[in-house]
Amino acid sequence: MIPRPPEAPFADVEVRVRGAVAGHLPRGLAAAARTAIRIADRALADAGREPGTRGRMAGLACRAGCSWCCHQMVGITPAEQALLAEGVLALPAGERARIRGSVAAAVNRTRGLDQRQWWAARLPCPLLAEDGRCAVHSTRPLPCRGYNSADAEHCRRSLEGEATRVPVLAVQWGIYGHAQAGLAQALAAAGIAPGPVSLVDALAAVLA
Ligand code: SF4
Repeated sequence: MIPRPPEAPFADVEVRVRGAVAGHLPRGLAAAARTAIRIADRALADAGREPGTRGRMAGLACRAGCSWCCHQMVGITPAEQALLAEGVLALPAGERARIRGSVAAAVNRTRGLDQRQWWAARLPCPLLAEDGRCAVHSTRPLPCRGYNSADAEHCRRSLEGEATRVPVLAVQWGIYGHAQAGLAQALAAAGIAPGPVSLVDALAAVLA
């Protein structure tokens, strides 16, 4: 599940997302999620130009096809679920059928697990394609965008059960985490239960 972002410096992202999403909600939940992503992406680009944060963003080890991190519990809002649904429903029928089967298995295997137990289960996200890429990369949720590592070897060792700490890049994690918090607050203010729900349960609902 998404821990609340640890860093205060990006709290302004939360405020901006909350305000902007309130204005975009009448256009639908997926539009609200897109707004949050756009603001977070812009904040990340700005951070990359700031000498104070640029150095802390360096050393990104994440690459297409590297998927160690795609084995954890991901908590999402209904807005991210709606955006995810657009991506999933746009996939070819055969791919959707494969995902439906993986989701059913994942729902059974993850029921009642906490975050640590989920990671220990080493269960790949149902949206992970055979080549290790995300099948819905352009519509993936905010935590997937913010979870960036400085060392893929630590990610691998952690997933394989070693007691090692994954060096998650705090700037990215802070920005996308605050964006999700702002999105959740805007939903709650509009009377929409903000979640989070697990990505697996959200997919089960989308594919029901
Ligand atoms: S949605 Fe995509 S990026 Fe996120 S955990 Fe699943 S496969 Fe990985």
